[in-house]
Amino acid sequence: MPKQTNVRCPNCGIQFAAPVETVIDVSQNPNGKMLLLAGSLNAFQCPNCGSPVRVTTPFLFHDGSKELLMVYVPPELNLPKPEREKAIGDLMRELTAILPQGSFKSYMFQPREALTLQGMVDTILQADGVTPEMMQQQRDRLSVLESLLGAPEETRPSIIEQNDAKIDTQFMQTLSLLIQRMAAEGQTEVAQQLAIVQEDVLAFSSFGQTLMRDAQEQEAVMQEVAESIQALGAQPVRADFLSLAQRYAGDDQRLEALVGLIRPAFDYAFFQDLTAAIGKAPADEREKLETLRDRLLELTQAVDAQTQAVIADAAKLLQVFASAPDEQALDGLIRENVAVLDEAFLSVLLANLQQAESQGKSDLVAKLTDIYERVLGVLREQMPPVLRFVNELLGAPTPEEQQKMLDENAKAFGESLLTTIDAVSEAMSARGEDSIIERLAELRAAAEQALA
Ligand SMILES: [Zn+2]
Repeated sequence: MPKQTNVRCPNCGIQFAAPVETVIDVSQNPNGKMLLLAGSLNAFQCPNCGSPVRVTTPFLFHDGSKELLMVYVPPELNLPKPEREKAIGDLMRELTAILPQGSFKSYMFQPREALTLQGMVDTILQADGVTPEMMQQQRDRLSVLESLLGAPEETRPSIIEQNDAKIDTQFMQTLSLLIQRMAAEGQTEVAQQLAIVQEDVLAFSSFGQTLMRDAQEQEAVMQEVAESIQALGAQPVRADFLSLAQRYAGDDQRLEALVGLIRPAFDYAFFQDLTAAIGKAPADEREKLETLRDRLLELTQAVDAQTQAVIADAAKLLQVFASAPDEQALDGLIRENVAVLDEAFLSVLLANLQQAESQGKSDLVAKLTDIYERVLGVLREQMPPVLRFVNELLGAPTPEEQQKMLDENAKAFGESLLTTIDAVSEAMSARGEDSIIERLAELRAAAEQALA
């Protein structure tokens, strides 16, 4: 667990308390491992001047499941041998104190010393099954990305062509993770440049072209299946779904789209009807229908598993947030995870909040409400300014206040204010939020006047 430690900013000299990690036991602190691998362990931002502040301290890494115990004493500390031994001994005592009793094993007598941070990270990755070849490939990917990022627009296609063989699924994953991380760290400009690089890679590499073709094809199939569902009319019955599924039998792409679009239609009663239909079918059609039933079962299970995994991830993340030692650490965690704070996360958070309320757990209610407000705050920060402004306008306490905000700021946003209001209005109407649509229409009229 991180320790609140006073840290001094090298730039402005102010002192602030920061959660410094010195002992990372993976089973209790998976987030510490993530920070270490991402190179952001004990890296903070000065609350006063915003400078990055990195704390140089010895630390211990322990992964019991892999019998891996390593210590890193930063060489820049220049510790003489006795002090160095003492520092390691202190860390070991700290670790033993947080481990469950009786879990001491022989490998713990002597932690492996890592000479460099990179060496420690490499050893951890190797224990995770990441081979040196895989690491080299990852470094290659990053160096291709680096050269693309620095290259002028007109030379990018030829760089992409030269590296065509390196561009695969992992390359695209690395690129999109990098974009997410930059955006989460507030490096919007780099994130935007990387997004442009991503477009070019999609357009000019063989792999990207295949991806785009597949995506277009998939979209066309989705569209077609959605139209077939719509053609069933406003109140389709089970027999309609059954005949649609039979029509797609043997066509996996369309079956997958069908289950993805209307998972609830494939309930217990549906499978009962399908089984009955198999019983009545002529012998030469039976096998085809049985295969259809098996495939539909697999597909519904896959959709359910995916939904559950999303919820489980959200619940785990909420736990991490709830166990943050203080406000500053909580805000840091929220910012690090902003890319995954989606509707699923918010609904898990609200469900937990409701449960805590109904059980009268007022401490937990206060904590979850605090998390909720901070998450919304960070999400709001990430919004484009014009969208944030529309949000603030909708939240204005009085019409006069709203008018004042418009008079002061509308011109700075110009036409984009109107198109944003229209886009929000469209999204709301798709979700059936009619009360907001009316307010948006009024807001649009007021905004038009303020712009005139
Ligand atoms: Zn500072």
